[in-house]
Amino acid sequence: MFASEPPEVPREALPDGEMDPELAYQIVHDELMLDGNARLNLATFVTTWMEPQADRLMAECFDKNVIDKDEYPRTAALEQRCVRMLAELWHAPEPAEAPGCSTTGSSEACMLAGLALKRRWQQARTRAGVHVRPPAGRPNLVMGANVQICWDKFAAYWDVEPRLVPMEGDRLHLTAEQAVAHCDENTIGVVAVLGSTFDGSYEPVADICAALDTLQRETGLDIPVHVDGASGAMIAPFCDPHLDWDFRLPRVASVNTSGHKYGLVYPGVGWIVWRDTAALPDDLVFRVNYLGGDMPTFALNFSRPGAQVAAQYYTFLRLGFDGYRRVQDYCRDVATTLASRIGHLGPFRLLTHGDELPVFACALRPEIAGYSVFDVSAHLRQRGWLVPAYTFPEHRTDLAALRFVVRNGLTHDLADLLLDDLRWALTELERQPAPLRGPESASFAHGNRPRA
Ligand SMILES: *Cc1c(COP(=O)(O)O)cnc(C)c1O
Repeated sequence: MFASEPPEVPREALPDGEMDPELAYQIVHDELMLDGNARLNLATFVTTWMEPQADRLMAECFDKNVIDKDEYPRTAALEQRCVRMLAELWHAPEPAEAPGCSTTGSSEACMLAGLALKRRWQQARTRAGVHVRPPAGRPNLVMGANVQICWDKFAAYWDVEPRLVPMEGDRLHLTAEQAVAHCDENTIGVVAVLGSTFDGSYEPVADICAALDTLQRETGLDIPVHVDGASGAMIAPFCDPHLDWDFRLPRVASVNTSGHKYGLVYPGVGWIVWRDTAALPDDLVFRVNYLGGDMPTFALNFSRPGAQVAAQYYTFLRLGFDGYRRVQDYCRDVATTLASRIGHLGPFRLLTHGDELPVFACALRPEIAGYSVFDVSAHLRQRGWLVPAYTFPEHRTDLAALRFVVRNGLTHDLADLLLDDLRWALTELERQPAPLRGPESASFAHGNRPRA
């Protein structure tokens, strides 16, 4: 096989002729061996392992387009059932009535959530007889500077002012007081993140809602909250059932999650659910033909793979509430154990402990002068571990951290091996007189944000 490969494989232009499929497969397969090992990728929140049965199901659905609701009514039904299950899990007042859909991921889901907030604000302004004219009437969205980059995109693409609340001292995410202080009559909503991508901490959703209730009593401003639960909306229901963060809070208008993060499905699926039909303006919803009737859809994409939706339904059916709780509890146990052991190594100061999302961040103590977190990240990479180092956003760009994302498949045993390799890295680095790498080497970041 290898001896029959041509001396040069065309890379930048479409080849003139055909190639044997086995040979083409081998060439592509071999190049991809140079990618990092997904299971050792502690930078990503995205699922890197599924059961063989899920693989089989996905392969069976590779040819299905989720938009063809009329042609693939069963896939459409599975999607709707997943929405119902999530609406119930997140305590929607009427789970059967709560509108929602699958998306390509949380990014698309957040776009839809933001668009609904913007349209609701426009409609309310029109009803109040206020002519919305920029710049005086430019809508804004209040959120912490720690939001994922999809919210910067939402603001840029749909002409909304991103009102980012900077970090301050040890406050590394949005607080109720700061959120309210940034709101005015042009605020379309507040985004609360359940599980900051920077450090895995939960933002205080209930406090933010309560502070907005007070604001409404005092000023009449009625500002809805969207919960970006990309990770946390599939952790908190199982690990923190008593935490109020979802539709139990009347001010929460919508919730998104990434099915492909702690929803435990391979990349390519997200979910969004609105509290009720009032939270999703009807003029954003399009009707598609479905079994002779029509089905409402709200999406940026038209065609999308159906396999991820089938895989999500499989996972819900397969694990149920207890199964999800077992998987997420195990992840959290690994995260808290690993965090505490790393904290005890000496050079690190834990910023979070893995007890909210199974994710934690740590910085080096100020007395460590010979190496940086970027050096530690590079050393771990030599042993195959992908652990990102990055600096925090506005007002805390001085703070550089390593972040560990614990996912299904990072077992206690693997975590022990990681700890051994971290000890080895520190022994090597202790011989170094000065740091070799700074934030410019933060190859895991996306636009000054850690990858999620
Ligand atoms: C990952 C993440 C996103 C983006 O989600 P994708 O599913 O990757 O599009 C948005 N918000 C938060 C908090 C995230 O962690």
